[in-house]
Amino acid sequence: MTEDRCLFEETFGCQSKKDQISKAGPTRIATIINFSKEYQDGIHIDLSERLNLDPNLVIHCHRSCVSTYTSKHHLQRHKKRSADESPPHAFEEETKIGRKSFPF
Ligand SMILES: [Zn+2]
Repeated sequence: MTEDRCLFEETFGCQSKKDQISKAGPTRIATIINFSKEYQDGIHIDLSERLNLDPNLVIHCHRSCVSTYTSKHHLQRHKKRSADESPPHAFEEETKIGRKSFPF
């Protein structure tokens, strides 16, 4: 049963998760590889190597871990955090509709 370990165990520290481990095929893996390149976490290096050796590669992972990992929202938050130094100010325009012209 040692095979049934989540691919994202190190990323998410999800060892204690009680969710069932599911399997992901080559299509899923390709998506994970793409996201991993964005995260620059090195997962894609190992994965693409394994996928090269076995085009029908199947990996084990929590379903919730994959969906978090391959979520655009999650990626954006990750990018925002790592690009914190570069943009000086984000242009934020506040448009308030319910503006009061007179207090009384
Ligand atoms: Zn997991």
